[in-house]
Amino acid sequence: MTDPETRLDLDDALTAILADTRPVATSTVVDLDSAAGRILAAPLLAPMSLPPFAASAMDGYALRSADAAGPPPYRFTVVGTSYAGRPADDDIPHGACVRIFTGAAVPPQLDAVVIQEDCDRDGASVTINCTVAAGAHVRPIGHDVTAGARLMSAGRRLSAFDVGWLAACGMTRAAVHTQPTVGIFSNGDELADPGQTLRPGQIYDANRLALRALLQQLPVHVHDFGIVPDSQSDLRALLQQADGSCDMIITSGGVSVGEADWVKDAVGEIGTLRLWKLNLKPGKPLAYGRLRHAAFFGLPGNPVSALVTTLMLVKPTLQRLCGGDPTPPLAVPAVLRGGLRHQPGREEFQRGTLAMREGKLEVTVTGDQSSNRLSSFAAANCLIRIAKNCADLDDGSTVTALPFSGLL
Ligand code: AMP
Ligand code: MG
Repeated sequence: MTDPETRLDLDDALTAILADTRPVATSTVVDLDSAAGRILAAPLLAPMSLPPFAASAMDGYALRSADAAGPPPYRFTVVGTSYAGRPADDDIPHGACVRIFTGAAVPPQLDAVVIQEDCDRDGASVTINCTVAAGAHVRPIGHDVTAGARLMSAGRRLSAFDVGWLAACGMTRAAVHTQPTVGIFSNGDELADPGQTLRPGQIYDANRLALRALLQQLPVHVHDFGIVPDSQSDLRALLQQADGSCDMIITSGGVSVGEADWVKDAVGEIGTLRLWKLNLKPGKPLAYGRLRHAAFFGLPGNPVSALVTTLMLVKPTLQRLCGGDPTPPLAVPAVLRGGLRHQPGREEFQRGTLAMREGKLEVTVTGDQSSNRLSSFAAANCLIRIAKNCADLDDGSTVTALPFSGLL
């Protein structure tokens, strides 16, 4: 990998970190009930076709289309009823039909369903008032899925929709990747946990809680090691302990060049630090490395920087570690309202509010973008990605917005 003093662009850093990340090798079988959010460890083949029988898509009458020759109307004798779950008898003579309901099996000799709105029922017979095409309103066997087809590939993160699909195929369990353990802690003498009384000069730890909330959305176990003071020996001891039980360790604070920034040195004592300067705003000081076992991320202390780097770097790396396939986040062009300020040099992510106005996507920056201001996230629902060589942007410029819904 690169010399740790090199300044890396975000994309290059991500490429390098992903190349250094292997998925957890172990898998486990879970019930469908707890499969949502987990990552498939092996491809899944359909054990059966869906629907498993030709089924009616509508309420109406099932018949042979060939029996409806010439112009309508046609008269048919109704010889039975096919309800969902209670098929009609199979033996249907020519010129006869069955009453049928949505989801009910279409008897094998019949090939079309006429919707009831096009029929007039009169006792044991029915008049069909429209032409009848073969296959009309019939869902053939395998219309959704054919037996043996690949339903899903390994590496897929199972959604609620996927779980429904697997259930529809009669599956009860799925083999998924084991959840890696992610250790987190915050570093700084100034930090206290919410609920504690602040001593002079202290602030509450925002990063750990936000990070924990973000990690809840990934299939990982989180081990929270709390707050560690600005002490190289304390940091080293904790890193050694966490390295024994975690696949990844994420810390925030103490990775800059201040006199109390010990994290990089402590990591260097146990393992290797791979890179620590990003050509990125916010998030310039960022450490990535490896201890003996665990991968290591040292996020900047400023909460906005910590969160942006988590979204843009840590999350895709965790997806890979979990066995998934990180894909670039959803990015949409939007018209900038109110302009924004940007000094060419570093790629920047500002927080923005994205909304549809008169059929167009518009985005506005959420006020002062200083990296300590969590309030810049308050009204935000997206990040605005600003290319490194770009200068100030005027009202009406087209910018790229990354909706949080595609980042989380
Ligand atoms: P550092 O990276 O340690 O120099 O911290 C940069 C800034 O972020 C300082 O103002 C810290 O007080 C602040 N900071 C560091 N860690 C946290 C945290 N966990 N929550 C909120 N602010 C923090
Ligand atoms: Mg600090």
